[in-house]
Amino acid sequence: MPGRILMVVFDGIGDRPVPNLGEKTPLQAARRPNLNALASSGACGLMDVIAPGIRPGSDTAHLALFGHDPFKVYTGRGPFEAMGVGLEVRPGDVALRCNFATVGASMTVLDRRAGRIREGTAELARALDGWEHEGVRVHFREGTEHRGVLLLRGSDLSPDVTDPDPHREGLKVAECAPKSPGAELTARVVNEFVRRSIRLLKDHPVNKARVKAGLRPANIILPRGAGIMPKLPTLKERYGLSSSAVAGVALVKGICRVSGMEVLEVAGATGGLDTDMGAKLRAALGALERSDLVFVNIKAADICGHDGDARGKARVVERIDRAMGLIREGLPEDTFVALTSDHSTPVCVRDHSADPVPLLIHGPGVRRDGVRSFDELACARGGLGRLRGMELLPVLIDLAGRAEKFGA
Ligand code: ZN
Ligand code: ZN
Repeated sequence: MPGRILMVVFDGIGDRPVPNLGEKTPLQAARRPNLNALASSGACGLMDVIAPGIRPGSDTAHLALFGHDPFKVYTGRGPFEAMGVGLEVRPGDVALRCNFATVGASMTVLDRRAGRIREGTAELARALDGWEHEGVRVHFREGTEHRGVLLLRGSDLSPDVTDPDPHREGLKVAECAPKSPGAELTARVVNEFVRRSIRLLKDHPVNKARVKAGLRPANIILPRGAGIMPKLPTLKERYGLSSSAVAGVALVKGICRVSGMEVLEVAGATGGLDTDMGAKLRAALGALERSDLVFVNIKAADICGHDGDARGKARVVERIDRAMGLIREGLPEDTFVALTSDHSTPVCVRDHSADPVPLLIHGPGVRRDGVRSFDELACARGGLGRLRGMELLPVLIDLAGRAEKFGA
């Protein structure tokens, strides 16, 4: 009987030594008896999720963890940003990143961020969402602050178009033009969207209130960076695995969906610091009853990394560790569990870095390598050595007795 696989990603957990934690990483500084017990009875290593020296985004990192080569399948951030704001993205959809901006009478861009608008963008976005032009379905959704995403769905779309966004203030808004034959329809729809944004946002109540308050109105949407969603092979097609996922963040959920995973909705899984880790892991254990592979993403450590909050990050590790008690108690005997991360988010960097992440694999017959704690330095001495993210799933599939032999 082949075994089952549970992959748990602690988003952004990897770090560097922190002076006010006594030169320990937040992971090392945290009390983590469950993680360390799993390390003691498993195999450890380090992982370059994409490649040494490459700083992964959460999107490219998860593509690699699910066995896709991000250098081949990642053609532009647009479709992944669309997933990040909760839009459903299908193969062939074209998405563009957008700014809420301020334009003057002669179509000159006065402010590419509309006075750094933060409020009211959801209402403005609703005015531009859900219509059709020349058979193309158009969706628009607000992102954080002045950002938004434009998603086009239709046959015959192409990402090969120029940007209406002039990328500099004081310049005029550009026409979207096809860069190759076959991109004409896409260009026409993008131009129609920009015209529509000017028409519908001009007298929008949100903008009237902004002008009254002396703020710059968000009276145009400027799209840029068109990208197309590639058709990715599902885990079923590629490895014959049925799969489920538990994640709180829209971007990660979206990548799980395009990889063919069933994304479970778990009450309390917020993708924030308040997320209910226990509920997520209980849902994952339940899903193992019917899936060959279950994936879990826990976002909280990454948030503390971006905030530069070392002590908060160590506290998140302690919460993760308590939740890991459920895994130690409830894991079916035939299950191989991998605990790792999608990238490091060092508190001194406040962003993702290329530092390799710790990796732990636990399961029946796994070579115990003598590593007794789960952290960046101890794992460097482990028997798994140093892997790439794309290699993790094949390693787990082999351990689980599901790999095809290469050769006779
Ligand atoms: Zn991440
Ligand atoms: Zn991050």
